[in-house]
Amino acid sequence: MAKIIDGKALSDKLRLGIRDRVTALKASGIVPGLAVVLAGEDPASKVYVKNKIAACEFTGIKSFAYYLPHDVSQAELDELIVTLNADPSVHGILVQLPLPKHLDELKALSLISPEKDVDGFHAVNAGKLMLGEKCLSACTPLGIIELIKSTGTDIAGKHAVVVGRSNIVGKPVALMLLKHDATVTVCHSKTRNLADFTRSADILVVAIGRKEFVTGDMIKAGAVVIDVGMNRFEGRLYGDVEFSSAEKIAGYITPVPGGVGPMTITMLLENTLKAASSVG
Ligand code: NDP
Repeated sequence: MAKIIDGKALSDKLRLGIRDRVTALKASGIVPGLAVVLAGEDPASKVYVKNKIAACEFTGIKSFAYYLPHDVSQAELDELIVTLNADPSVHGILVQLPLPKHLDELKALSLISPEKDVDGFHAVNAGKLMLGEKCLSACTPLGIIELIKSTGTDIAGKHAVVVGRSNIVGKPVALMLLKHDATVTVCHSKTRNLADFTRSADILVVAIGRKEFVTGDMIKAGAVVIDVGMNRFEGRLYGDVEFSSAEKIAGYITPVPGGVGPMTITMLLENTLKAASSVG
């Protein structure tokens, strides 16, 4: 039976360390600040924002919440971002996605100053990640790397297979695994014979948004399996991996919920602290 990678426990531990570093930074005169912008009434987004603000409070990071009406104009949103860019008490800016349909997400995200882009979605940060330069990187992929490391697995030389190639999870995590010297294969919806790839993975990261799509027979015995999926079905949350069959084969596996999710917020705190520290 696989060992469970407890993302909640790891996250709690890391948050205590972040709290200590926030306290130290405050003693040197810098209060790290995160601005969270939520446009509209999406219930899931509201929960995410609430959790992010609570996590800030726990670690001592100052949060500034901006709740904009559903019909906010692009000009108003852009103006707020420009204002936050210029505000020295704000070190990180997060625009909660998805934005209401009439708004241009890419435009809003590209307006955020790259130094305050704690979600790591700006083209400058995405480009720096590709070049292997220091940058603010996307939070979910950062959390995935921490989860893999927590198992004691040496990533170097391992075959890592990433299923999913989105800009926020699949592509950045593939680049990070490559940076850690894994041999990386990226699969997507046009991949033929997917199971041939997943079955050869020492490290398998699945981020596709399909409930329990990867089953135990698609996994190599002893593999580290990171399930990024968050699929709501009949009031319950399911991963992209079928946990019941996968846990019989894998060496380590993340549960859903309680795996990748908590780590994403923790890496947001880490990025905010990093952005604030680089100001001083
Ligand atoms: P996207 O919808 O942006 O991307 C999905 C990717 O999966 C695409 O690259 C797509 O391929 C690929 N894909 C879809 N179907 C298949 C298939 N049958 N076989 C192989 N590949 C397939 O999703 P995200 O990356 O944003 O999110 C993925 C999942 O992770 C979702 O469930 C999301 O809710 C969750 N998530 C969880 C987070 C957390 O903190 N826990 C954070 C972010 C996301 P193609 O490119 O060819 O279309």
